[in-house]
Amino acid sequence: MDDRQQVDLVVVGLGPGGEALATGAAKAGLRVVAVDKHLVGGECPYYGCIPTKMMLRAADALAEADRAGTLAGDVTVVPSWTPVARRVSQDATADWDDRAAVERLEAAGATVLHGAARLDGARRVVVDPAGGSGPLTFEASRGVVLNPGTRPAAPPVPGLEGTPYWTNRDAVRATELPGSLVVLGGGPIGCELAQVFVRFGVRVTLVQRGERLLPGDEPEASRLLRDVLEGEGVEVLTGAEASAVEHAEGVFTVTLQDGRRLEGDQLLVAAGRRSNLDGTGLESVGLSADDLAVDERLRAQDGLWVLGDVTGHGAYTHVSMYQSAIALRDVLGEDGAPARYEAVPHTTFTDPEVAGVGLTESAARAAGLAVRVGTADLGASSRGFTHGPGAVGLVKLVEDADRGVLVGGSVVGPAGGEILSMITLAVHAAVPVSTLSTMIYAYPTFHRTIESALADLEA
Ligand SMILES: Cc1cc2nc3c(=O)[nH]c(=O)nc-3n(C[C@H](O)[C@H](O)[C@H](O)COP(=O)(O)OP(=O)(O)OC[C@H]3O[C@@H](n4cnc5c(N)ncnc54)[C@H](O)[C@@H]3O)c2cc1C
Repeated sequence: MDDRQQVDLVVVGLGPGGEALATGAAKAGLRVVAVDKHLVGGECPYYGCIPTKMMLRAADALAEADRAGTLAGDVTVVPSWTPVARRVSQDATADWDDRAAVERLEAAGATVLHGAARLDGARRVVVDPAGGSGPLTFEASRGVVLNPGTRPAAPPVPGLEGTPYWTNRDAVRATELPGSLVVLGGGPIGCELAQVFVRFGVRVTLVQRGERLLPGDEPEASRLLRDVLEGEGVEVLTGAEASAVEHAEGVFTVTLQDGRRLEGDQLLVAAGRRSNLDGTGLESVGLSADDLAVDERLRAQDGLWVLGDVTGHGAYTHVSMYQSAIALRDVLGEDGAPARYEAVPHTTFTDPEVAGVGLTESAARAAGLAVRVGTADLGASSRGFTHGPGAVGLVKLVEDADRGVLVGGSVVGPAGGEILSMITLAVHAAVPVSTLSTMIYAYPTFHRTIESALADLEA
């Protein structure tokens, strides 16, 4: 390949959104160069959503086997990590090999390169190909798409650097389990992985700096999940900050600010993510990674689109894909609906799942809305009663009473993320609460709890 090429589009970073956009642009006939410095597909298929959901599915099977004792007779399961590690490495990630994804993208007509890429002025990208050959420069007539994603953040705790601690990337590659694990971070990733490992017999301590788990969700959801995790044996420490980490003779010692010392065979750091925009040369086009903003068509400036986690509209694969479709239309000069984020759903795939959409009660109040709130106990529903063990949860609805529409909602429960979809539709389409209240809800379903929460809203 010539070291200075004229192309139509360069896509830097092939997370779910970048990969889909590059595929669509190539299929539409553009000359597309698609670059990733690691694996085509990004965090989700190799280190994020897919492997962690496989791990959670395995942990759920153990919990269900345990519940069978109450429901259906004795089941004996000897937990083994071997099938989990095998599914993750063989079925999910092809041993962290992206050949199939590269071939799909090439079949669509794109040129795929592995290497670090950066902007070098408007519509120009320099790629340092993996394997060490000299840099390649591309001039892109339509422009450049950045989808660089994030990496695990390492909190500045003295002693942490240089120790063999885990991030999500190591946890999904584990072939053997530690006897004990300290988890730093009580967000979705920390909570999901804490539950996986405790269900496989690991002694887990979950350390959360803030006052509650899942701080982005409703406080009721945080409390409920804490109760569940503690009931399963996770030691949950909130308002607890690590002030030092040591690693000696195979043991991690985490010292908390109040002087308490925690020991673990392994330490999992799930304390936030850092944007990879810092390596993308934004300053060469007069932009800064620290305060980058994109418009409703994902444009950061003429000929430059940015999408995915780094846009700050929800670090979820579905947001990356949603933005990708909008940016692709813009790249191709097609019209379409602009990006809107009032109804971004999310699910933490613990058991019970914790799902939410739109505004929480406190966010709605902070936005100055005339808020009405309705809640209902999902475990106390008829479906919860028939379901038995494991049926704990709640529904919480947040209404803008002036408009008479829901602006947010949360569901905690078995399949909470599925139940949430109806609330997502209501928020997205601004369905009047009066319409939702006169709908018929099948009996005995979990989603019928939404009807109870609506009644509470109007009580
Ligand atoms: C443990 C975990 C579990 C998760 N579970 C879920 C879930 O259940 N549901 C959900 O919706 N989301 C989940 N997520 C989030 C999800 O993985 C991301 O939102 C998703 O991957 C979209 O990210 P992205 O498109 O911004 O890019 P990413 O997927 O982060 O991909 C960015 C790509 O850009 C490449 N790159 C970066 N800089 C450069 C450069 N300069 N040159 C070339 N390439 C570069 C990287 O190598 C990477 O491949 C999870 C994340 C984690 C960590």
